Amino acid sequence: MLQTGCAIIAFPAHARHPSMDKPDYQAILEQIHRDIAPWRTAGRVADYIPELAKVPAERFGMAIVALDGTVYAVGDARERFSIQSISKLFACTLAFQLLGDALWDRVGREPSGNAFNSLVQLETERGKPRNPFINAGALVVTDVLCRRFVGAETALVQFVRRLTGAADLDYDLRVASSELQHAARNRAMAHFMASFGNLQMPPETVIEAYCRQCAIEMNCVELATAALFLANGGVAPVSGEHILDASSAKRLSALMLTCGTYDAAGDFVYRVGLPAKSGVGGGILAVLPGEMAVCVWSPGLDANGNSLAGVKSLEWLTTRTGQSIF
Ligand code: GLN
Repeated sequence: MLQTGCAIIAFPAHARHPSMDKPDYQAILEQIHRDIAPWRTAGRVADYIPELAKVPAERFGMAIVALDGTVYAVGDARERFSIQSISKLFACTLAFQLLGDALWDRVGREPSGNAFNSLVQLETERGKPRNPFINAGALVVTDVLCRRFVGAETALVQFVRRLTGAADLDYDLRVASSELQHAARNRAMAHFMASFGNLQMPPETVIEAYCRQCAIEMNCVELATAALFLANGGVAPVSGEHILDASSAKRLSALMLTCGTYDAAGDFVYRVGLPAKSGVGGGILAVLPGEMAVCVWSPGLDANGNSLAGVKSLEWLTTRTGQSIF
């Protein structure tokens, strides 16, 4: 007969109990801030959106917001920057709220193994993008929002205001129009997907909303605060709002882990070990479920379009704290 029930294995005294040794986040952030200095100018600031090229490369900020509301911050953690593709996380959250699993009929859940702005898979995969965090997938997500809201970008701005409690958050018109004038590639993608019937709104409507959502400006503390619902079973600690049920929050975090840093996602998970979403403005937002959210900003990018010093800093954070999802 099968034995059922609960047994306790007595671990030896040297077994680690993570909850008992909370790291000194502020000291670790300050150490990272000092050590990262030589890396801050090693990357390349995105210049295919001319307004972004104006941001000084040496800026660096990093903030952890713990689930109890404690903020640990260093450097330019309170200076706002263009969140760019980090907006894809918030847009996907809203679309997932609206459609639930039906969202996955229109966008996949697999890493693409291609650049964030690649078109190649769209032809063979009949206009269904691999995941919501590459540009093609994000355009489908924005299409969902454009169908539901008169101003998709306004819905998104209001969403991040509620998540952070920062009523003055908005998108930067100059960055949005700068991208709109250089959006040939994203336009091509939108029209291509429309040809497969995977856009329901006019491509130009979707492109305009997409460029505005990418131009939302937030700082590291605000971004980390905004992502806390993912670390907190789907409930936003600032407003108490139930953003997603716990299972959906877990699933969205899983997507960040596998797809949030584009074709570098494997390397990122190996080095950092946290679900994350990056943007070409130089921000990376990551989550440690049950514990905290962390955001780093350094505008210099690596070849994959992820912040070079940002990835390094997060790698040091999880190595020095011994914390990750693994
Ligand atoms: N707005 C940018 C684009 O569509 C966002 C890209 C990114 O941050 N990876 O190209």
